[in-house]
Amino acid sequence: MAIERSKRVIFVAHCILNQNAVSVGRERAPGPIRELLELFAEAGVGIVQMPCPQLEHNGGLNRKPKPKEKYDTKSYRAACRSQAKLLLQQIQTYLSKDYNVLGILGVETSPTCAVHQLINGNRNVPGKGIFIEELENEMRAKNFQVPIIGVNLNNLFSTMEKLQSLLKYS
Ligand code: SF4
Repeated sequence: MAIERSKRVIFVAHCILNQNAVSVGRERAPGPIRELLELFAEAGVGIVQMPCPQLEHNGGLNRKPKPKEKYDTKSYRAACRSQAKLLLQQIQTYLSKDYNVLGILGVETSPTCAVHQLINGNRNVPGKGIFIEELENEMRAKNFQVPIIGVNLNNLFSTMEKLQSLLKYS
């Protein structure tokens, strides 16, 4: 019997599927974040791995964590912008064929991929990462919207609840 594709996909920050890419000391799992991988696999949702801007454009595999202001250079922002443009083209490819793009998953407190929270010293403060800012700018310019959800790897339970309702209602 032929298997039908679900026509449902979610775009995820690179390190959700590959914690080898995070800055040194920020690992939360040896490989993927298993809970999220299993959640989407069980729901039959295709997982599209976004690029890791820090790995590719700012520091490579052995980089140490640093705050947003240290990342926020003209050239890094331009690299994030061009990755955001490519990503939107990919999303558009799915949307144009009536696939359901459930959302884009960022990672809270990352200077690049945070959606709502950054770190200032030891405190969490409101703010977005550079890649997410550029992605939102590009979406505004192109006049379309896909939900962007911040994964909180320090409180995966609250993230799982949000994602379960996303899976249920979209
Ligand atoms: S830049 Fe984004 S994808 Fe790369 S490690 Fe940080 S949160 Fe993950």
